[in-house]
Amino acid sequence: MPEKVVIVGSGPAGWAAAIYTARANLEPLVYEGAVTEENRQDGTLPLGQLNLTTEVENYPGFPAGDLSHYLKDALDSDQAWLADMHQKEGCSGPELMNLMRQQAKNFGTRIVTDDIVEVDFSGHPFKLKSSQGEAVDSLAVIIATGARANYLGLESESKYKNNGVSACAVCDGALPRFRSKPLVVVGGGDSAVEEADYLSKFASQVYMVHRRDELRASQIMAERAKNNEKIAILWNSQVGEVLGNDADGVTGVRLTSTVGEPDREVEAGGMFVAIGHTPNTRFLEGKLEMTDKKYLKWTVPFRTNTSVEGVFAAGDVADDYYRQAITAAGTGCMAALDAERWLAAKGFH
Ligand code: NAP
Repeated sequence: MPEKVVIVGSGPAGWAAAIYTARANLEPLVYEGAVTEENRQDGTLPLGQLNLTTEVENYPGFPAGDLSHYLKDALDSDQAWLADMHQKEGCSGPELMNLMRQQAKNFGTRIVTDDIVEVDFSGHPFKLKSSQGEAVDSLAVIIATGARANYLGLESESKYKNNGVSACAVCDGALPRFRSKPLVVVGGGDSAVEEADYLSKFASQVYMVHRRDELRASQIMAERAKNNEKIAILWNSQVGEVLGNDADGVTGVRLTSTVGEPDREVEAGGMFVAIGHTPNTRFLEGKLEMTDKKYLKWTVPFRTNTSVEGVFAAGDVADDYYRQAITAAGTGCMAALDAERWLAAKGFH
């Protein structure tokens, strides 16, 4: 018997889809991803990008406060260690993701800790294969594999991730560690300007480090950067090394010039990398329609349909614009409802 719905991915989109499809008696099977060194390096471990962040202050429902008792009570005993690690400041990314996973489990979601590496959507039921070689057939599929932030790839950058290096100003920018300090934003696109502008509310100064002498950002965003007194653009520059120490985290960056000027050091309490994201769609190449940046295409306005009928997409894998936990969870819910209605219309459920 084929599965009714398989969900691939375990960020907020995947778990929201699981909660909704489980409650609709579709008995979802979630492939949450494999725990491998390759996935760790890539930033594609189970529970997605939020599991790599610290505090989450913008997900509604979790104001600042001590959640340790709640975590102990809500999570299975094998996850109770999260309650002991709790920082008493509201919800962290890993806590939020484990709570979502638990909620999906409570409604009967089955979870496999493996990657889907191959799909065949040419016939029906759809065929999927995991990295361990397990084959699964399903009547409907929800893809929620998310995206990963691009980083520069420097060793010093990895060393200070979550200790002053971030790829999300909206997630981390308001943390006390970044307040009233000079900060560096790397990149010259709309995201970099948006991050710099956002950070300028908290920082004493924001340096945008861009490798060329012209921004990629749209005219209106470029004007915003240039008109913001707190933003200084450091042209023709690349970050060669992130400077810091274990106690303080990031203390600055060493910049190299792309036009042959001497290296220089800039003092900074944090570095935000805004050089784009890569959607996790490699295993879907040639199987579903994608944008030129390899994001899945939603083919019907305000729906989560993909180019294959019965396959739906939710979260950052199909959204390079909002990229928030709340929007991912929202589209996860939409994909679940779309899948449920599609299965019902086809008489499968
Ligand atoms: P993007 O437009 O691809 O820009 C990436 C930037 O990072 C570019 O300036 C690029 O430099 C730089 N970069 C890439 N790799 C680099 C590396 N290894 N070292 C140093 N710099 C590097 O990406 P995005 O800014 O994330 O925007 C993605 C999409 O979302 C765009 O379509 C954008 O318009 C949209 N967006 C819109 C808004 C808004 O309208 N409010 C906000 C955010 C995003 P080069 O310029 O030299 O290539």
